[in-house]
Amino acid sequence: MLTGIHFLLTYKCIYECDHCFVYSSAGAEGTFTLDQFTKTLNEAKKIGTVEWIYLEGGEPFLYYPMMIEMVRVASLFGFKVGIVTNAYFAASVSDAEVWLKPLKELDIDDLSISDDELHSGKCINSPASIAIQAAKNLGIRVNSISIDSPELSSCITQRKKGEPVTSGEVMFRGRAADKLAEKFPGADPAEFDRCRWEELESPERVHVDSFGNVQVCQGISIGNMWQVPLSEIMNNYLAKTHPVVKHILSGGPLKLARHYRTSLNSKYIDACQLCYETRKQLIDRFPDCLAPRQVYGL
Ligand code: SF4
Repeated sequence: MLTGIHFLLTYKCIYECDHCFVYSSAGAEGTFTLDQFTKTLNEAKKIGTVEWIYLEGGEPFLYYPMMIEMVRVASLFGFKVGIVTNAYFAASVSDAEVWLKPLKELDIDDLSISDDELHSGKCINSPASIAIQAAKNLGIRVNSISIDSPELSSCITQRKKGEPVTSGEVMFRGRAADKLAEKFPGADPAEFDRCRWEELESPERVHVDSFGNVQVCQGISIGNMWQVPLSEIMNNYLAKTHPVVKHILSGGPLKLARHYRTSLNSKYIDACQLCYETRKQLIDRFPDCLAPRQVYGL
């Protein structure tokens, strides 16, 4: 049952993190307008089961006035609202309080702040830790998102499928697959016969972008909401007819690669790397299902 719509408010970000799933950068295109946002909320309401709206990216605070207005509008629609940020703006606790105060006034339901070495390097007073302190001072419900650097990653998180990432290891999709995976030993592709992370059959959340893509995992689109209304896309979604999802569901990324006879390496670091690299080979064959291209670094 779909309970959350995650808006990739923008693909732009001041950082270009090696582990970014969506290939964000300062030059990345694709930012929601208020009209597009409101139109999507109307559709989310029609679905009837959506409780949460998340604003993320990229970095949503880059579009600060729009972000604040979107929180206000989504709250008026009756949704719970969350934001995911890297808190780049937090120069001091008192300055960060100025940035965050409007969110307190709007009674935001969750502020998730990326607080790890992958975002801000090894520093004690990271912008994230400063913003977390400011949010606590203001009484905002705040969470930190911490992804272990791959060399530190020893744990397999107990995160349930479909839940947002809040801690644990890097998953090697997007830029992580292209930039980080080769540094680590891998395993035989035969091991990757299931998707551990996403509820692809009946998603609890989808990511949407300003190009209209409705994504069940970053770069796997189940429809374009500027062509077909979001509520129709969700009501008509049948995983077993999607040319990519159906194979991942029935035998993981390994089945996807074998079915379409894409080339296989001898080793992959995780299922996501195999999935991502297989999809990248299929992108011209299924351009509507594997979108947007920029999430593949193209
Ligand atoms: S295996 Fe594929 S579908 Fe599943 S989470 Fe990884 S990249 Fe996404």
